[in-house]
Amino acid sequence: MIQSYKQKPELQETYDTLVIGSGMGGLATAAILAKEGQKVLVLERHYTPGGFTHIFKRRGYEWDVGIHYIGEVQRANSILRKLFDYVSDGKLKWADMGEVYDRIVIGDQHFDFVKGIKNFKKQMISYFPNEEQAIKEYVELVYKAVKTSRNYYASKAIPPFLNKILGRFLRKPFYKFSDKTTDEVLRSLTSNETLIKVLTGQYGDYGLPPKQSSFTMHASVARHYFDGGSFPVGGSSQIVKTIDPVIAASGGTILVNAEVEEVIIEKNTAVGVRMKDGRILYAKNIVSNAGLMTTYNSLLPTETVKKFQLKAQLRKVRPSVAHASLYIGLEGSPEELQLPKTNYWIYPDEGDHDTCVKRYIDDLSQPFPVVYLSFPSAKDPDWSNRYPGKSTIDIITLLPYDTFEKWSDSSWKKRGEAYEAFKEEMANRLLKELYKQLPHLEGKVNCYELSTPLTTQHFVNYSRGEIYGLDHSPSRFRQSFLVPRTPIKNFFLTGQDIVTAGVAGALFSGMLTATAITGKNVLKKLK
Ligand SMILES: Cc1cc2nc3c(=O)[nH]c(=O)nc-3n(C[C@H](O)[C@H](O)[C@H](O)COP(=O)(O)OP(=O)(O)OC[C@H]3O[C@@H](n4cnc5c(N)ncnc54)[C@H](O)[C@@H]3O)c2cc1C
Repeated sequence: MIQSYKQKPELQETYDTLVIGSGMGGLATAAILAKEGQKVLVLERHYTPGGFTHIFKRRGYEWDVGIHYIGEVQRANSILRKLFDYVSDGKLKWADMGEVYDRIVIGDQHFDFVKGIKNFKKQMISYFPNEEQAIKEYVELVYKAVKTSRNYYASKAIPPFLNKILGRFLRKPFYKFSDKTTDEVLRSLTSNETLIKVLTGQYGDYGLPPKQSSFTMHASVARHYFDGGSFPVGGSSQIVKTIDPVIAASGGTILVNAEVEEVIIEKNTAVGVRMKDGRILYAKNIVSNAGLMTTYNSLLPTETVKKFQLKAQLRKVRPSVAHASLYIGLEGSPEELQLPKTNYWIYPDEGDHDTCVKRYIDDLSQPFPVVYLSFPSAKDPDWSNRYPGKSTIDIITLLPYDTFEKWSDSSWKKRGEAYEAFKEEMANRLLKELYKQLPHLEGKVNCYELSTPLTTQHFVNYSRGEIYGLDHSPSRFRQSFLVPRTPIKNFFLTGQDIVTAGVAGALFSGMLTATAITGKNVLKKLK
C-alpha cells in the first residue's frame, strides 16, 4: 500500500527488510522478498514513488520521466518479461511500438532501426551495401558479448565462498568484451564513419559516447531492442501501481515523503535507519536503492565509511552524465497530430559522437551533440482514455552539472531569473530541433517545462544530477564491489549501479539483491 510518511501511518516495530528508495531496483527487491513472505517497508524521499519510473502531472498533462521504451518484453517467454510478470503478478501490460523503434537522424539523412534481427540487418545493409560483412559481424559480436553477461551477473549473487572458487571463471569471458570500448570494437569491423555513427546512435541510452563506453554496455542496449521497443500500457506509473499490491500482500508498505538520513550500524551490522525527522525504524536487512555515490557519501556513518575504506571504492567510478528534458504538452490527440511512436536520435552532420560531445561540453552554444525526441502519448494505447484531445512529447539532451553548480544552493522553483532565462533559451533551441523534424507541430504546443540536472538532483537525489548512476566505462565492469553484498553485515545494494542503467538492468538488480538476501535462486521461480 502506498502511503505518505507525512500522514504518520501506523508502522510495525520491526520489518524483515527496509528498502531505501523506490526505483525499479528497490521495488523489484521488495516484491521478490514479499513473495518469499517477507514484510518489507520501502522508504521513498520523493512525494511520488518509482524513482526514474515516476510520472508527474501539471496543467492537465502527465509526463513520464525515465521510461521511453523497454525491449525484450514483447515475447512472453523472455526472461525480462517473465521477471516483470513475476514482480507485478502479471498485471503490467505492454504496448509494442511497431516496426521502427529508433530513427537515427544525421543531418538530412535518416536511418531506421527496424524490429527483428533479420529486418535490422537487411535495413542496415540497404543503407550501407558495401558494409554487409561488417554489419553481419557486428550483430554476431553483439550477441556474443551479451551471451557472456549471464554468468558475469550470476557471479554477483552467488555466495562469497563460491564466488572465490568460481567467480573468476564466470567473469573471464565477459571481460573480453567489457574491457574494450565501443569505438575499438566498431573500428575493428569497419572504417565507415557514418556506419559507426549510426550503429552507435543509441549511446544516449547509457550516456557515454563510443570512445569512452564499454562495448558490453553498447551490446546490451543494442540487443535489448533488436526485437523492438514497448511502452507500459497506462504509462510508467503502472510499474509501481502493479508492484505495490505484491508488496502489500505480505504486509509491506511503500512510504513516500520518507527520507532516510542515515543507516544505523552496530558492531559492523546494519540494524535500522534514522529518518530525517529522527525516527528510527528497525529491520533484519537494509537495502539501499539510492545509488552507490549517495549511499556511501551520505547515508552511511562516517566511521563505517572509513573503517571499510568505502571512499576508495568511489574513487574508482565516476558519475554518469546529466541531462535536460523538455516536457511538452500539445493540443490535439497523437493521431490528430500524427505523432510517431518511433524515437528520433538527432545528431550533427560533422564529427563523430565523441567529438560532438566534447565540442558542446566545452561550449554549450555549439550544436547539441544529441537530441532525443520521444512521443510517449503515441506509444500508450490508454493515453487518449485518460487525456482525450491532448498529447505529450519529451525532448532530451545532455547538460553538464557544472553549468548549474552556481544555482545548487537555491531551491526548486525559486532559482532566480538567470536560471529561468537559461532554461528558456535551452527550451527554444530544443523546440527548433523538434520543428525541423516535424514542422506541422509548430503552433500546436500548449505548454512546456525544462528539467535540468538540478531537477534530477532535487527529485531523485543524485548529487550531480546524473541520470544513469555510474558511468559505463570498461573499468566500471571490473569493479568487484558493484554487487548486492557490502562489507557491512545485513546491508545490501540494489539498483542500476550494481547491474547497468536501464529499467531492465535495475529490475535484474532487484533479482540479484533478493537472491543474495534469501539465498534462493529467483530465476528458477519464473514460469
Ligand atoms: C531521462 C531518462 C530517460 C530514460 N529512459 C529510459 C528508457 O527509455 N528505457 C530504460 O530502460 N531506461 C531508461 N532510463 C533509465 C532508467 O530509468 C533507470 O536506469 C532506472 O529506472 C534506475 O532505477 P534504480 O533502481 O537504479 O533507481 P532510481 O530510479 O535511481 O531510484 C532511486 C530512488 O532512491 C530514492 N532515494 C535516494 N535517496 C533517498 C533517501 N535518502 N531516502 C529515501 N529515498 C531515497 C530516490 O528518490 C529515487 O526514487 C532513463 C533515465 C532517464 C533519467
